[in-house]
Amino acid sequence: MVETQELKSLLKTNFGYDNFRPNQQEIIESVCAGNDALVIMPTGGGKSMCFQLPAVAMEGTTLVISPLIALMKDQVDALQANGIKAAYYNSTQPADEIQEVIENLDDGQLDLIYVAPESLQLLDPHLTTAKINLIAIDEAHCISSWGHDFRPAYTQLGYLKNKLPDTPLIALTATADKSTQDDIADQLGIAHAKKYISSFDRPNLYLDVRPGQKRNEQILKFLNKRPFESGIIYCLSRKSTEQLAAKLNAKGFQAKAYHAGMNAEERSKVQERFINDKTPIIVATIAFGMGIDKSNVRWVIHYNMPKNLEGYYQEIGRAGRDGLPAHTLLFYSYADTIMLRKFIENAQNADYQIAKLERMQQYAEALSCRRKVLIQYFGEYLLEDCGNCDICKNKPEYFDGTILAQKVLSGVARMQEQEAMGTVIDVLRGSQNSQVFEKGYQNIKTYGIASDVSWRDLQQYIIQMINQGLLEIRFRESGRLLLTPLANEVLFNGKKIELARLTQPKVEEVKTKKLKKPKGTLFEKLRELRSELARDANVPAYVIFSDASLKDMEDQEPTTPTAFLEISGVGQSKMEKYAADFIELIKSHVKTPKKKSGDTVYETKSLIDQGYNLEEIAEQRNLTLGTIYNHLIKLHEEGMEVDYFQFISAGEVKQINSATTKVEDPEKLKDYFNFFEEQIPYWKLRLALYVNKLEN
Ligand code: ADP
Ligand code: ZN
Repeated sequence: MVETQELKSLLKTNFGYDNFRPNQQEIIESVCAGNDALVIMPTGGGKSMCFQLPAVAMEGTTLVISPLIALMKDQVDALQANGIKAAYYNSTQPADEIQEVIENLDDGQLDLIYVAPESLQLLDPHLTTAKINLIAIDEAHCISSWGHDFRPAYTQLGYLKNKLPDTPLIALTATADKSTQDDIADQLGIAHAKKYISSFDRPNLYLDVRPGQKRNEQILKFLNKRPFESGIIYCLSRKSTEQLAAKLNAKGFQAKAYHAGMNAEERSKVQERFINDKTPIIVATIAFGMGIDKSNVRWVIHYNMPKNLEGYYQEIGRAGRDGLPAHTLLFYSYADTIMLRKFIENAQNADYQIAKLERMQQYAEALSCRRKVLIQYFGEYLLEDCGNCDICKNKPEYFDGTILAQKVLSGVARMQEQEAMGTVIDVLRGSQNSQVFEKGYQNIKTYGIASDVSWRDLQQYIIQMINQGLLEIRFRESGRLLLTPLANEVLFNGKKIELARLTQPKVEEVKTKKLKKPKGTLFEKLRELRSELARDANVPAYVIFSDASLKDMEDQEPTTPTAFLEISGVGQSKMEKYAADFIELIKSHVKTPKKKSGDTVYETKSLIDQGYNLEEIAEQRNLTLGTIYNHLIKLHEEGMEVDYFQFISAGEVKQINSATTKVEDPEKLKDYFNFFEEQIPYWKLRLALYVNKLEN
């Protein structure tokens, strides 16, 4: 039995984290007690920890089945960087390396061994001689043909539980669908296992859906605002990935296409460059990103709508794994839905898939908080609107759409419910095309009755009417529109209808100001040092430290090994390896501005005097807002008049200072930061404590 306290200290020493993420502790304790588990956690939720920590806590070796060789290598690199004894075993290795791995396994030298399902058989004789303490099946949905990523080699994995019946088995996946879950558990022989379903909410992901008009233009504007960030654009076809990548390159962005038509070598090169921050933008088909642990993907764009919400959620989940804010943007067009329908209609279990597509469509067309729709799909409920989606940020305005609805509905009735949306719109708008004339629709009473509404707007309103249940689409009958009973209420019984006012697709303003790469900030310097170390060690940059760790260093500026150990993501091994280099850099950074402290502080002062507000100053000077507030404190210390209560309320000062007696160490800003659940930025904490000192 492993004690909770011991697990926590192993988490810090081995991985550098202070706290477990939701569900991790429960799962880890149960697994260490010898129980099987089925873990459903969203991408980025921290699944790997659920077997990596037991692997170091228990005696023996944990066997990890993982579908992708590239992914295996990265995980093993990351583990080794933390001083954990891990190896992988697959068909790409030279014979002598394989020999060494096997010897280490037999000798009990390994904490973890990663194996591709295809190579498992070769390892079979060693499974009983080595002491296997836990079997972990990563990306377990690959075993199920119900899932969306079926891999035949996974189906043999059921034999593991037969072979090692007393060894606990943990299966992990990000797929939430109920039928897939049961299928996984059955096939792996752990039907009785406890299921751990984590919250699917990822509040740091901004959810944005925009009409798919002028997509390229919208994307360029989006990228112009984010010149130094990494992101992925998902397209449906190989051809469109290449075309879009070429277009972006022509506009001066560094983008690379990625799709299944490229050979394995090309693909892994592209992937590697992305992981190492050399290529910031990937334009890919859905094949890209599975299992990539690149934590600083700052945005994901869907050029086309995915087939279902599982796929969508998994893809947007690749953004913001470090927990920092990330932007996800889905382009939605009605034409895409029609095309996806056509793909699906000939597939096996078409009904099942169409039902899923409809949920996807509802999400894209939602006029209420998107996160609520999404989370509900995964069986959870949000009580409040999230405040971090396009709908919450920009609540639609409703108007009485009864008359417009009546026009549309009577048009549909007069066309005998025989026409699809396109023709209905044409007729209502009085188009003079041959299709209309051939059928004589120019003679019906509703011809041209909605000519004051643009084609696209009318289309959007009709979609809203479909979603409100006024019209039904018969997809199998060339998409003709039919009236529902509710439509009759509107036409004949005076039922009122509200429609959401349409806003033009917001094409963001391009900044006229030239954006310069922020040089000289501590974060930038830390990144450079990280790249250097990564190059030397020949590992991806995130294996050294995640962006979240660098951000924490920037905020806390640790200059002693003890302080360095406080940083999130710094465990014993990384402290020993990297503390010296990073501390040296931080010290020199903290010192340089001191020498010119006068200059930089007075530059801030002079801008304040010129009437700029603090945000503008931070932006203009390429400094963080926190730094500007620190300047304020310095100015005050030097005897300048500063009105702090412009920036912080008396209530906030009081609230923050009331924590002084509750935090572990009142001298440590980080303790306050954690106390307020990371909701109050460091500069505000610092300012509040400073102001309080002044007042007393
Ligand atoms: P996934 O569920 O997609 O497999 P990972 O296991 O790759 O997610 O974890 C995502 C990120 O979260 C990784 O960078 C990992 O180091 C980090 N992480 C995992 N557990 C914790 C924790 N308890 N505290 C902080 N970060 C964590
Ligand atoms: Zn919302």
